[in-house]
Amino acid sequence: MPYAGADFYCDLVLSGLATVKAVAEIDEVLAFPHAKPSFVVHIVVVPRRHIPSLVDLGAGGVALLGTVLEVVRDVAARVTAECGKPRVLTSLGSYQDSRRLHFRAYIDEPPRAGTPVARQPPTANRDS
Ligand SMILES: [Zn+2]
Repeated sequence: MPYAGADFYCDLVLSGLATVKAVAEIDEVLAFPHAKPSFVVHIVVVPRRHIPSLVDLGAGGVALLGTVLEVVRDVAARVTAECGKPRVLTSLGSYQDSRRLHFRAYIDEPPRAGTPVARQPPTANRDS
């Protein structure tokens, strides 16, 4: 059954209900290939703590943003080296498909097989 909630990353990825293949991981931040990539390379970077958005960082969010951006920078550099220069994006309001702060590093071409930074859809840990 497709996910119908508002925060895929908290509800499924960071809770452990869906398994993702981390491409970068530190205590505060996780980066992984998008579950349903819209692009040939589509990496998502999320703080592990729920932060609503770039303009609503909450207590301690400003300090955490620097750490998140370090991971975004690392991922963007790796994509650049392995696949070509990506776009880096965060969305606000109705543009957020998942209602929390997340960044994407992506190459604006349709998905195709055999991409160097492999996209690895999450695997549900549940049997249902
Ligand atoms: Zn959340």
